[in-house]
Amino acid sequence: MKYVLLIALALGLIWWWRLLVRKNQARPKDAAPASPPPPGPADDMIACDHCGLHLPRSEALIGARGTYCSAAHREATEGRSQGS
Ligand SMILES: [Zn+2]
Repeated sequence: MKYVLLIALALGLIWWWRLLVRKNQARPKDAAPASPPPPGPADDMIACDHCGLHLPRSEALIGARGTYCSAAHREATEGRSQGS
């Protein structure tokens, strides 16, 4: 009979400990921000004056007569005399 009480006590302790662990695991999840981090300031989107492709201003090539997605399109529109 003594062993039955000990086993019951051990089971009770295990059940209680698991409950505590589950609570501790759930808490950080609830505290963590649910929304993803906000994206940085959006880069201005501009259109290539040759093909109309939209690209961030930081990646665009600025020409004498407009902005372009690549050197080839800048040359195609403005001519090779501009460069070199
Ligand atoms: Zn282009």
